[in-house]
Amino acid sequence: MSTEQTTRNIPFFKAIIGEEEIQSVVETLNSGWLTSGPKVKQFETEFANFVGAKHAIAVNSATAALHLALEAHGIGRGDKVLVPTLTFAATAEVVIHLGATPVLVDINPATFNICAEDIRAKICADTKAIMPVHYAGQPCNMDVIQDIAREHDIPVIEDAAHAFPAQWKGNMIGSIGQVTCFSFYANKTITTGEGGMITTENDELAARMKQMSLHGLSRDAWNRFSAKGSWRYEIQAPGYKYNMPDVAAAIGLGQLHQADKFHSGRKSAALRYIEAFKDFDFIETLTIEKHASHAWHLMVIKLNLIKLNIDRSDFIVELNEAGVGTSVHYTPLHLHPLYQNEYGYSPADLPVASRVFEQIISLPLYPSMSTDEIDYVVATVKRIANDNAK
Ligand SMILES: *Cc1c(COP(=O)(O)O)cnc(C)c1O
Repeated sequence: MSTEQTTRNIPFFKAIIGEEEIQSVVETLNSGWLTSGPKVKQFETEFANFVGAKHAIAVNSATAALHLALEAHGIGRGDKVLVPTLTFAATAEVVIHLGATPVLVDINPATFNICAEDIRAKICADTKAIMPVHYAGQPCNMDVIQDIAREHDIPVIEDAAHAFPAQWKGNMIGSIGQVTCFSFYANKTITTGEGGMITTENDELAARMKQMSLHGLSRDAWNRFSAKGSWRYEIQAPGYKYNMPDVAAAIGLGQLHQADKFHSGRKSAALRYIEAFKDFDFIETLTIEKHASHAWHLMVIKLNLIKLNIDRSDFIVELNEAGVGTSVHYTPLHLHPLYQNEYGYSPADLPVASRVFEQIISLPLYPSMSTDEIDYVVATVKRIANDNAK
């Protein structure tokens, strides 16, 4: 191994915080108004305009957003909600918090998005929502999912934690399903450190989610967050504490203003990876759907294990030794103790996700990656594969 390889350090992710975010946070700190106030309002307005949604509600995480979306639909005990198994803990845990049951759905082997046939196989009279995840930032086939949901008269609640900005058939994610939930966690495509946004066209759902994000207080209570605020409020339902603070929104505004620039940086990095692996037998990349405009949150590769003498875990060890940061998205939910012990899942229940889980690695992807860094990651992946060819 050359010394060059051991001295490189390419992190899995690097957030870019610009001068505007820093100025905006300083301005907020100096304003004396730290919690939800004018910056949140501005962030909501600008975000709604960006995705073309009627309502945008800023919250303190995508997990909170998903929880509020389900709650606003009255989902509770005895209900079932369809969730893809290849996702983060949050998508399904919020279903459980409401007393409902997450029903895990397998994925499409080409895109890793939720499998429409498996949705059809698992949908039943108790199913009260479908929660697609736009995996890696590539929109699901929303036509098919919306059709199924309409047939059964249930809502589509999108986990768009990876999918800002993204489009399905020219429509922004955030303007399609009944409710769409975005994440601004530290490593997402835009960040507020911790944060999330909910978008919807529906006035009633918006009002309920807004209310429940602040202790179920009457809508007027939000006037507490203004100079002319009153001490008076009414508790109308047992809500949550999910509002976004102005300090976070100040970061979010600066990030939003760079979203297109960030996106084009990630896109060119991703396309460079895809081109580099195109004719390389040991590695596959995910299929890109014709109608999808991808957010390029994650660069996921699939190891062709039949041709390799190394497993995914050891592959990752070698990448890390060469200074390449990696991650795995995700260990499917049905392989975790919670879902095996409490819900009785076994690996064979969701065979596609179980199989691809053994093959996947997420490579570094962020807008500030240089072509030199991408080429180094590609060369390192190829070297490890070639060294371990069967
Ligand atoms: C990050 C993520 C979440 C949770 O986002 P938070 O803002 O951290 O709550 C939910 N779903 C998916 C698919 C995610 O990647």
